Amino acid sequence: AKQAGRNNFRFYKAEMNELAMYRLRMESDLRNAIESQEFVLYYQPQMDLKSGRISGVEALLRWQHPRPGLVHPAEFIGVAEEIGLIVPIGAWVLEQACTQAAAWQRAGCPPLQMAINLSARQFAQKDLVSSIDAALRRSGLAASQLEIEITESLMMTDVEQAAATLNELKRLGVRLSVDDFGTGYSSLYYLKRFPIDKLKIDRSFVRDIGSDPDSEAIVGAIISLAHSLGLSVVAEGVERHEQLAYLARCGCDSMQGYLFSAPLESEAMERMLRGLPPS
Ligand code: C2E
Ligand code: CA
Ligand code: CA
Ligand code: CA
Repeated sequence: AKQAGRNNFRFYKAEMNELAMYRLRMESDLRNAIESQEFVLYYQPQMDLKSGRISGVEALLRWQHPRPGLVHPAEFIGVAEEIGLIVPIGAWVLEQACTQAAAWQRAGCPPLQMAINLSARQFAQKDLVSSIDAALRRSGLAASQLEIEITESLMMTDVEQAAATLNELKRLGVRLSVDDFGTGYSSLYYLKRFPIDKLKIDRSFVRDIGSDPDSEAIVGAIISLAHSLGLSVVAEGVERHEQLAYLARCGCDSMQGYLFSAPLESEAMERMLRGLPPS
């Protein structure tokens, strides 16, 4: 057993080295990625359930790495967050998203909400509000058209600080939405305390519509809770008609998911905004 244990250890050590190498490599590649213009934004439309129109899009980051190709955020956001690179990356996302939304509007596309994801590190930056203000001014996008997605955990780490920042953002005129709603803190206290506009029901609840009555009950309850507090609700990860039908029955305001569209490159997104078929 001892022998096997040692071998095991050696095996793990080799694997750890590989992992450490991979990690180092990713860090140095990430440090180059902004300068080398390897990041791209994809856009996923949100459909308004009453009008059937696109009410907004969520900007989702992709890394066009020269070697493995398109890298999804799950693979690099965590590392970028740990080494602090998420701050300049997030600033790039903000700039790019505002510029794109303003450009679509100038090109005659119907006005829409542009949603971006904010990381905890970004949220803690002292100059967050002024940098958002500056990006809005540079792009010419109205503050009311920018939506900031924050998570429950991000708001709950320092409640006083979060409230101050969110109030400032609100004063600027941007919209605030709670991402992955229902998966974080169990306290609903912050819904009263913070100037939130919208809840995004997490995909894990939406996924089980049609198979799990508890998830259906939770989804229904989130929608009534949101509406009674004057908030709007978007459901994430809608993939099947059955889910859409249930959400519509509950009065959900909008939905986002593969059923309607996957995240698209900007050209494809623009065609969709113009009501053109995919090229
Ligand atoms: P999220 O904010 O919850 O974004 C939704 C994720 O669900 C996206 O994954 C999207 O592509 C995926 N998705 C959309 N519709 C469906 C569906 O119908 N079914 C399924 N199974 N998935 C669907 P993505 O783009 O890989 O992003 C993953 C996460 O990475 C995001 O989760 C967000 O937390 C983070 N992220 C993405 N872009 C940024 C960014 O610019 N900044 C920061 N800080 N985080 C980002
Ligand atoms: Ca999001
Ligand atoms: Ca989400
Ligand atoms: Ca998520």
